[in-house]
Amino acid sequence: MKKLNPNCIFCKIIKREIPCSKIYEDEKILAFLDIQPVHEGHCLIIPKEHSETILDTKDKYLQAMILTSKKIAKPIMEATKSDGFNIHINTKRAAGQLVDHVHIHIIPRFKEDGLKLWAQLPYQEGKMQEITNKIKSLL
Ligand code: 5GP
Ligand code: ZN
Repeated sequence: MKKLNPNCIFCKIIKREIPCSKIYEDEKILAFLDIQPVHEGHCLIIPKEHSETILDTKDKYLQAMILTSKKIAKPIMEATKSDGFNIHINTKRAAGQLVDHVHIHIIPRFKEDGLKLWAQLPYQEGKMQEITNKIKSLL
């Protein structure tokens, strides 16, 4: 039996206690339209077992999530006549995660739609090597 969280809104969608506009479903995955889209066709892909972030999600569900992204991205692009898409995962509040059930966003994008995901800054002298060494030492 797959574990669900009674207080989680996405688990309620899995249990059909809350309706959704379903795009795709299989044994491990449910994909449905985001209720407040960045652009129309913005889709969420969730595992049918509760976990909060990719860090506590079983590999078999992560694999299914990314494979489902590949499966539905092209139909989303064609249906929305978009020029591209972002695959996006917000992890924890600092990164904008509002629903604590891991999910992938597929966001249709249009040439010159003006959306900017982040600003990028160059490294200061020596910092790039320092952070590379630090991350590698923790792998
Ligand atoms: P997060 O910020 O956690 O990465 O994204 C959560 C997303 O879930 C938001 O884009 C929000 O619009 C969407 N969302 C929240 N509640 C519901 C709901 O009840 N139904 C649907 N379809 N989407 C929801
Ligand atoms: Zn959940």
